[in-house]
Amino acid sequence: MRVRGIHQALLDLLLELGRDNHPREFAGVLREEDGVITEFSLLPGTVTGGESASLFLDMMPLDTHLAGSAHSHPNGVLSPSQADISFFPRAGTYHLIIGYPYKSDCWRSYRADGSPVALEVVE
Ligand SMILES: [Zn+2]
Repeated sequence: MRVRGIHQALLDLLLELGRDNHPREFAGVLREEDGVITEFSLLPGTVTGGESASLFLDMMPLDTHLAGSAHSHPNGVLSPSQADISFFPRAGTYHLIIGYPYKSDCWRSYRADGSPVALEVVE
């Protein structure tokens, strides 16, 4: 599965979720349709106060359209933590980090190995 982009409306939603949950972290899974990430599912119980994306692994749904994950960094650091890098390979191919202050450019996308990957924002 090759993903080329993320839907603009979904990106806006993720930034809004970041703002709404701040200073707590949120985490969830991304789904794609035809190579574009279009859907986000916030996993229940994942909003926490810490650096904890790995805690929601047990609730990860089995889904062939699973593209990856998205979570927020209330500290504003847009690079993956050590915990993120050990978690990414178990949660799909593309991973978004949304960071404080949650403006339109306050996000980055990474491959499962933690290297940056460019995703086109699709209208
Ligand atoms: Zn993280």
